[in-house]
Amino acid sequence: MALTDLKSFDKPSLEEFLIKKEGLPAFRAGQLLHWMYEKNVTGIGEITEFSKTLRESLSQKAFISTLKVKERLTSGDGTEKYLFELDDGNFIESVLIPPDVDQDRDKKIGRNKEPGSKADTLADKTPRLTLCISSQAGCAVGCRFCLTGKLGFIRDLEPREIVEQVLSVQRHIAPRKITNIVLMGMGEPLNNLKNVAAALVRLTEFLHFPKRRITLSTAGIAPRITELPQVAPMVNLAVSLNATTDETRSLIMPINKRYGISSLMQAIRRFPLPPRGRITFEYVLLGGINDSQADARRLVKLLHAIPSKVNLIPFNGHEGSEFQTPSAERVLAFQKALTDSGCTAIIRKSKGADILAACGQLKAKYELKK
Ligand code: SF4
Repeated sequence: MALTDLKSFDKPSLEEFLIKKEGLPAFRAGQLLHWMYEKNVTGIGEITEFSKTLRESLSQKAFISTLKVKERLTSGDGTEKYLFELDDGNFIESVLIPPDVDQDRDKKIGRNKEPGSKADTLADKTPRLTLCISSQAGCAVGCRFCLTGKLGFIRDLEPREIVEQVLSVQRHIAPRKITNIVLMGMGEPLNNLKNVAAALVRLTEFLHFPKRRITLSTAGIAPRITELPQVAPMVNLAVSLNATTDETRSLIMPINKRYGISSLMQAIRRFPLPPRGRITFEYVLLGGINDSQADARRLVKLLHAIPSKVNLIPFNGHEGSEFQTPSAERVLAFQKALTDSGCTAIIRKSKGADILAACGQLKAKYELKK
């Protein structure tokens, strides 16, 4: 008889499984979730809150799935890339990003505060350790500056595969703690919205990861931005904007032909924000393409009256890339134009470029399509 994966269940279906198949009371589901997510055990035998008899009988019908770490690479700057092999032989990657040089500045401007939150108080004393996780194997969106986009779409990740990236890396790095999660790895999260929403429920309700420390990054699937708050826990939203005219954006992000800048900005303006919340705009600076002063001025106009901050990410050249890294002068001038107009704009140093873990460099073990 095939064993049932206990991590495949949400809470109601886990309760149903335990009641119907095991004749156990519903409260056992809460205990199981606590051990699988908060205590992060990988085997039923480790659940010492259950009697030996119960552990043995449950083990004959069920198991707790994990993801296999196939490879772990560490960059010279401390970034760690985890390559996971999925049950069907596909691969995905997660990237653990060490404390950021901007962390002190973030604190000064009050970013990431969740007043009164115990978890946030603890995290404030802990060095920020951000895990960037994948939501799909490959990606259909095809941004031209991104290696994952060049793979094409392979498949959606299941909720357990999304969450297990967090649990698995946490087991590897203990006693260090993941303090922030970003869905910015392989894949477009809003193209796998149902499973991403289910994964966010598991992260926030089972693992009790603070919502304000989770960020979902999208290439701009406008209708799904509208749908997101109705179907998923309220986490931070980041939008990969990267251009200020439809012409340039469509050139580097073909998705823009479907959801142009004006419909995207309309969806963003309607996105409900918590008090002091703001939208993050990711802007990959491509030398000579989107890094002019005119672009900076248009960006200021686009973001007018939106509580926001801009992450400027100078493009990382990679093998076969058709874009250039912008000069340091142009990057600084772009940032100055934004900050002079009252925008919060932070230059994000690309980390992990030497192990292909920087933004847009994830391609797992796949050979790229020509
Ligand atoms: S940047 Fe994100 S959305 Fe665009 S192709 Fe890469 S993984 Fe997909």
